Amino acid sequence: MYKKSDKKRLYWIIDKYLSEKMTSEEFCEDFYESYDLEIDSSKFSSIEEKAFDELSEIAGRYSDSEEDHKASGFFYTEKELRDKVIETKKKLNKSLEELIKEELKIPDPNIEKSATILDETWLMCPDCIDAWESDSKDAMIICPKCKQTLHNPRFQDKSS
Ligand SMILES: [Zn+2]
Repeated sequence: MYKKSDKKRLYWIIDKYLSEKMTSEEFCEDFYESYDLEIDSSKFSSIEEKAFDELSEIAGRYSDSEEDHKASGFFYTEKELRDKVIETKKKLNKSLEELIKEELKIPDPNIEKSATILDETWLMCPDCIDAWESDSKDAMIICPKCKQTLHNPRFQDKSS
């Protein structure tokens, strides 16, 4: 769904994990591959930076082996992990939907394609040729059919 370099992925896997569509092992592995290996930390707000850093500490030392827990205090249990994920979700204080809405307000230089204006109310996707009604003035827009993010031709950049 989201690339491992996209911070939205962290919000997404947190929701997936908390709705039990992902095991603890899968969550920790995905979190590590995204947070530790791929995501540029300059993309984080200070709240996100702190919350994800703390979560990373627990996720990196999660173990489902009882022997590990008996042997040392180094590892975290499933319950500790889950509690931390719930705490992180609360701290972020933002849902994935809200994050997406926020991101759409800022032009994304990594995206080249733009939706096409059909008339005053309709836009069209250059890839799947789907057309939809939109009055959004945000910088970016998501095609409702193929779900890709495109530049919004109705965006007026007030900063330039
Ligand atoms: Zn499309």
